[in-house]
Amino acid sequence: MLAELEKKCLSCNKCAIGQQKIDGCLSNVFSNMNPTKIMVVGQNPGKEEIKQRTPFIGISGKIFDECMLEHSGLTREDLYICNSVSCFTPENRKPTEFEFTQCSEFLKGQIEIIKPKVVITLGGVALRVMTGLNGITKFHALPQYSTKYKVIVFPLLHPSPLNTNRPDKKLEFCNGIKALKKYLETI
Ligand code: URA
Repeated sequence: MLAELEKKCLSCNKCAIGQQKIDGCLSNVFSNMNPTKIMVVGQNPGKEEIKQRTPFIGISGKIFDECMLEHSGLTREDLYICNSVSCFTPENRKPTEFEFTQCSEFLKGQIEIIKPKVVITLGGVALRVMTGLNGITKFHALPQYSTKYKVIVFPLLHPSPLNTNRPDKKLEFCNGIKALKKYLETI
């Protein structure tokens, strides 16, 4: 079922960025295809992700992996990793509302197949897509319920290099992961 959805996503051309090629790489990236009960949802793939065909494999992903391992003991093998929008966007711009809407079929499909115990959102965009809530700094590390997707959401800041070049943001991110570890022990 997941493989079928992946195939559909990778051949999607519902908006202009689907089927686009950047430096010879297809812009659609689906997930890490590791069906575990802890789901991670980011914004959309970057250049490194489309090269390696896996979400969160570039600089942000490396920071995420390191902080997760250090503060929760979790590795990528423990996580199902995907994005709110499956395509790279030109100049890495934020996806448009149209693109979010077109891609929501794949996010919904993944949640229905994976049936996660919790969805960790990375950054404000993924939080808004999952819950309709605005303002990641207000909700960082505070579990929410997504009425749209009927699942618990654990919001975390986005581990982008911009944030982590600021030690205060990195500390906040890592404290969020410590809170996540505690939260996971209760579910
Ligand atoms: N940022 C995201 O939100 N997702 C990725 O896959 C990579 C970077």
